[in-house]
Amino acid sequence: MLTLRLDEIPEEGLNLKWTEERASLLAYLKTLSQVDFDLESPLLSEAKIWKAAQSVLVKGKVQTALRLQCVRCLKEFSYPLSSTFELTLHPLKEAPSAEETELGEQEMESSFFEGGEIHLSEIVCEQIFLEIPVQPLCQEGCKGLCSVCGTDLNLSSCKCVREEFASGFSVLQKLKLD
Ligand SMILES: [Zn+2]
Ligand SMILES: [Zn+2]
Repeated sequence: MLTLRLDEIPEEGLNLKWTEERASLLAYLKTLSQVDFDLESPLLSEAKIWKAAQSVLVKGKVQTALRLQCVRCLKEFSYPLSSTFELTLHPLKEAPSAEETELGEQEMESSFFEGGEIHLSEIVCEQIFLEIPVQPLCQEGCKGLCSVCGTDLNLSSCKCVREEFASGFSVLQKLKLD
């Protein structure tokens, strides 16, 4: 895990490029949040870091491939992830009050650092969480599983009468088609 001390950043800034391996990264992610995905490749990160008065600016890029589960058909699929980010880190002098933690829209890209240390691994890991779709789909328009027999409707069809066809409008539509 990569941590940078403030006094390690020269006036002209610092360019870093580093890799985090799958196993150690997953273990780390689990300390931050619930993890319901896997990684298919190491996490490649790049960042330029500058000091600006009391703050630190970080401009970077993360790249990896995740293994996600489709919410409709439950199949696992590969999800390439590549994202750039820009962050302003402010020194944290004391625990922020409730008002301060409620960040406004413009302050979304701000974060804090404490004790003169910049936790770069933590920053790039947060980017992964930000990039994961809330409802991962293996493909746009995945047909999902039959709610009655469990058939993967992307692969074959079944003869079940499903609730979606039994309800009002769909039934009318179906009758018209027949
Ligand atoms: Zn699917
Ligand atoms: Zn079925």
